[in-house]
Amino acid sequence: MSSDSAEQTESEVVVLDNGVPTAARVYDVMLDGKDNYAIDRRVAEASLAVMPELKEIAIHNRAILHRVVRHLAADEGITQFLDLGSGLPTVRNTHEVAQDANPEAKVVYVDIDPIVLAHGRALLQDNPNTRVVTADIRKPAEVLAHPDVQEMIDFSKPVCVMLCGILHHILDEEDPEGIVKALREAVPSGSYFFITNFTRLSDSPESEELERVLLSQLGTGRVRTPEELERFFDGLEILPPGIVPLPLWRPDEIVTDATTIGVRFMTGGVGIKR
Ligand code: SAM
Repeated sequence: MSSDSAEQTESEVVVLDNGVPTAARVYDVMLDGKDNYAIDRRVAEASLAVMPELKEIAIHNRAILHRVVRHLAADEGITQFLDLGSGLPTVRNTHEVAQDANPEAKVVYVDIDPIVLAHGRALLQDNPNTRVVTADIRKPAEVLAHPDVQEMIDFSKPVCVMLCGILHHILDEEDPEGIVKALREAVPSGSYFFITNFTRLSDSPESEELERVLLSQLGTGRVRTPEELERFFDGLEILPPGIVPLPLWRPDEIVTDATTIGVRFMTGGVGIKR
């Protein structure tokens, strides 16, 4: 879909460019994807003008997702992944990483943007262990009750709840902490939460300026303080190395310079419910 009109997908969902940018498509621009419109590219360009490192940051966000899912599926025996705000399919999606480690691993992708369902269905039609659901995490009870979620996820067994790059799209008045709490209460002991978020950098005016651009042009994009982020992990035991700049979470390769905005602007971590 690099055109700016409409797209007929295999699942017969028509996605229209209604002149409103979406987080899924702006993120797709950052990852050099093709599923975006001019309106999304304009938001991406305005954001990149403030923080040119955003493409690098998106790559770091995908890379930590791969490391976390691989670790939990291969080393911790997690067989169920609820990927909330999963975004458009891209290179190496959650189900590919999890099912490489364990072909029986179940993955449910949830996203508010129906374009994710349109593209996901086509990708996953031959994968019985994976589903894509259109739902709004601001209504966690509805997400959890969705028939595809109920069919795929056994809530008597540990689940990995993934909130990767989504909570900054939930405004403070929409109670992101309450959303995480509702999810935490719905899963059993031994479940994991994987969270990444934009982080306010006291030495970087860019982080505040980016929030201003995103809130005005996209309507979401809260850049939170480290203290605000830590509250998302309330009630969880945070795994080493803690809530850290994304490339520093159990890196596959040595990070030679951890002082850059590209490394530090997003932080994240993994917590377990004991
Ligand atoms: N999780 C992927 C990753 O980290 O690579 C994609 C992150 S993308 C930046 C954020 C995604 O969250 C978008 O696809 C957007 O549509 C989705 N999203 C935003 N608000 C949402 C909501 N209230 N409920 C469900 N999904 C939402």
